[in-house]
Amino acid sequence: MKQAEYDTPKPLTFSLLRLLADGEFHSGEEMAHSLGLSRASVHNALQDVGRYGITLHSVRGRGYQLAQPLHWLDAAQIAGHAGEARDSLHLEILDHAASSNALLLQRATQGAASGTVLAVEWQSAGRGRLGRTWHSGLGNALTFSMLWRFECGLAALSGLSLGVGVAMLRALHELGVQDAGLKWPNDVLLPDGKLAGILLEAQGDMLGPSAVVIGIGMNLALPPQTREHIEQAASDLAACGIPLQQRNRVMGLLLKHLVAVMREFAANGFAPLRAEWENDHLFQQRPAKLLLPDGKCIEGVVRGVTAEGALRLETAHGMQVFNAGEVSLRRV
Ligand code: ATP
Repeated sequence: MKQAEYDTPKPLTFSLLRLLADGEFHSGEEMAHSLGLSRASVHNALQDVGRYGITLHSVRGRGYQLAQPLHWLDAAQIAGHAGEARDSLHLEILDHAASSNALLLQRATQGAASGTVLAVEWQSAGRGRLGRTWHSGLGNALTFSMLWRFECGLAALSGLSLGVGVAMLRALHELGVQDAGLKWPNDVLLPDGKLAGILLEAQGDMLGPSAVVIGIGMNLALPPQTREHIEQAASDLAACGIPLQQRNRVMGLLLKHLVAVMREFAANGFAPLRAEWENDHLFQQRPAKLLLPDGKCIEGVVRGVTAEGALRLETAHGMQVFNAGEVSLRRV
């Protein structure tokens, strides 16, 4: 499948968006003056911001105004919401990257510390499972990756991606969102669509040590320009009454619970998290079908997961167990 790729806003566009972030009117002349540019350069740099999920009004005689103020990521604010997890984190915020996961994997091979977090305002080639694309706008989502190093080998990490789902649900509960649930192996869903995706990419030996990059994409206020690229129903935190202003808080709480789950997992694996995961699984004890890589489809009733995070499906031929690999769970 071809990965969709967007172009990246120019540094000048970011500078102008910073001036416009307050949601007030700013004249082209004033912005041109403060950045030492011509008005034509301002006009050109703002011409196509719609493609980044941003709505900008331009009114003759008054200037430019964002339809919604921008709430930039702020490392100090994020850390302030992460509780004691902040001491385990090395947080870096970038204006853009092709994919936060790809960049952090690269940094991991160069020795980046456990707890390194890369958050990006704009991802031009966000990735999902199986080469799929993760779409997000500028400033209206969270797209970040966290590196965690484990003593154990890759073989002992099965179930970790489900553990990440548990961490996300704990953070959502702390935010007061009660109607989110999980879809095996690691989608986070609201009643009207997908809220967040999780992508784990691991490095290391089967016997250890190992390093995992955990990528999270979460919709905060999904703009129509982004929604139209998504092939399935999607939802956002705004639909739960959590406004975009809480962007840094949401990220801080996600990190707080992610770090806690990493520690729990390092000590005891997935087994102690399993009941909590099953409790949040929207397909638990429900009929469902599994799509296999060869195009086949298996129907059955979901009977939870194993202590390693594999799906248990009761089929007409008895209980079958599936690893996440290349299979996808769907409603029947
Ligand atoms: P599976 O059920 O196999 O896990 P998935 O289709 O949900 O599958 P992921 O890799 O988790 O796969 O996520 C990628 C998919 O998520 C894309 O193919 C697209 O359908 C959807 N998607 C992409 N961007 C967004 C977004 N911002 N919000 C919601 N869904 C999105």
